[in-house]
Amino acid sequence: MPELPDITAYLTALEPRIVGQPLEHLRIASPLLLRTAIPRIETIEGHTVTSLRRIGKRIVFVFNSTPSEPCALSPEPAVPGQLAGRGGEPLFLVLHLMIAGRLHWRDLKPNAERPKLGGRNNLAAFDFPHGSLTLTEAGTKRRASLHLVQGEAALADLDPGGLDILSATPEAFQQALTQENRTLKRALTDPRVLSGIGNAYSDEILHAAQLSPLAQTHKLTLEECTRLHTATLTTLQTWIARFNAKAQESFPEKVTAFRPEMAAHGRYQQPCPRCGSPIQRIRYADNETNYCPTCQTHGKVLADRSLSRLLGDDWPRTLEELEALRKK
Ligand SMILES: [Zn+2]
Repeated sequence: MPELPDITAYLTALEPRIVGQPLEHLRIASPLLLRTAIPRIETIEGHTVTSLRRIGKRIVFVFNSTPSEPCALSPEPAVPGQLAGRGGEPLFLVLHLMIAGRLHWRDLKPNAERPKLGGRNNLAAFDFPHGSLTLTEAGTKRRASLHLVQGEAALADLDPGGLDILSATPEAFQQALTQENRTLKRALTDPRVLSGIGNAYSDEILHAAQLSPLAQTHKLTLEECTRLHTATLTTLQTWIARFNAKAQESFPEKVTAFRPEMAAHGRYQQPCPRCGSPIQRIRYADNETNYCPTCQTHGKVLADRSLSRLLGDDWPRTLEELEALRKK
């Protein structure tokens, strides 16, 4: 799932390509993508992108309230809730890529055609004067969503309310984290608690903070909470800087949750870069948490549902027991 560093990279790459440009056409191939009916989606055509924003993992395209070319609009009479009655307020296209949604950019070459929306993974194309932004979603599940809303109040309704970690004080971080007693893994990835962190970067943050993914937020000491806040900031800022540098050179086409530079995420059984112990995992229905037992759980291997079912009472409780078991 694209998380805060990936979304930031998309914004960096999109800014010089579409800000100040009119959206000439919006082509939507999947009926499941658009989640709003009013304003009608066609009304956005002809409006100019004035800026880009981020709400958590959502990308927000900000448009001016009146189209650049009035004749581009259909001359239908205005009805309540449509654009004509709410002049002056900006329009927002809000895109949530969810797990498998990805963006692609194609420059429009002279006399060339726009990219076609063939194939089931192509959901939409945003046509600008100099190129097209296309949205794809791999797999069979259609989770990516697009909302068109007008006015800041309507935009605020789409915000799950999590804390913006890059601007939050340590006190606000601690307060958000400890509002409910949750495991650290759950608290970090809950969009109502913190904004923009998912499965991959929560693994990296917890590894950097040397804290267990299953530690409970109410049992954190002040020192641990400060350490987690610092690790969260450092981890996200490191990845944002890394991706932004690349996004300034070319459009990010290879957005993935698995990076060779990661310390724990997606590195099951590979050596921890800090201590060399093999990285362990806790598996769920459709993803897993990765951690280093030596650095994060005092050597304890946390229960993995699939493995513990297989082994029953023989489930190893320490890294040493697990290693001994593997050697048998
Ligand atoms: Zn380690």
